Amino acid sequence: MDPQYCARCGHALQVREVRNDRVRPVCPACGYIVYLNPPIAVGVIAERSDGEILLVLRAENPGRGLWGLPAGFMEIDETAEETARRECLEETGVTVELDGLWGVWSYYHEPKQSSGVLILYAAHAVEGTPRAASDSLEARYFRPDEIPDNLLAFATHREALARWRNRPK
Ligand SMILES: [Zn+2]
Repeated sequence: MDPQYCARCGHALQVREVRNDRVRPVCPACGYIVYLNPPIAVGVIAERSDGEILLVLRAENPGRGLWGLPAGFMEIDETAEETARRECLEETGVTVELDGLWGVWSYYHEPKQSSGVLILYAAHAVEGTPRAASDSLEARYFRPDEIPDNLLAFATHREALARWRNRPK
């Protein structure tokens, strides 16, 4: 959602072309330009030693009642790797070690006008039994071939898991 008022002086913003470049919200009173940048979400494809993958049943929208990879938004004082480990622990109770970058996806949801960048790491579980948490109704392991594609909340997660199933071993 575009901001309506200037964060610096409170005047109503106007949307107009800036420096012959893009259309952006601009404050006509003080000249403040609003740059809208996508938020960054980070998550994991966390594998147990038997090859099963950790998923969470989402308690919040978007995707309430659907499954997803453990993932969430970066805090201002975190590295992407820290976000990945923290979100997994918060949502599932499982501590993971990261094995490497799995992929980066840009997403854009026209109806909600929300967009963002998703970074996923390959990871393996080192400690903890999956349990529901504040924003998950359930957390459990799935065999890669039993993951319910039609019950996944996000196309990005579906794509990442499809690539995981088809990866060269
Ligand atoms: Zn202003």
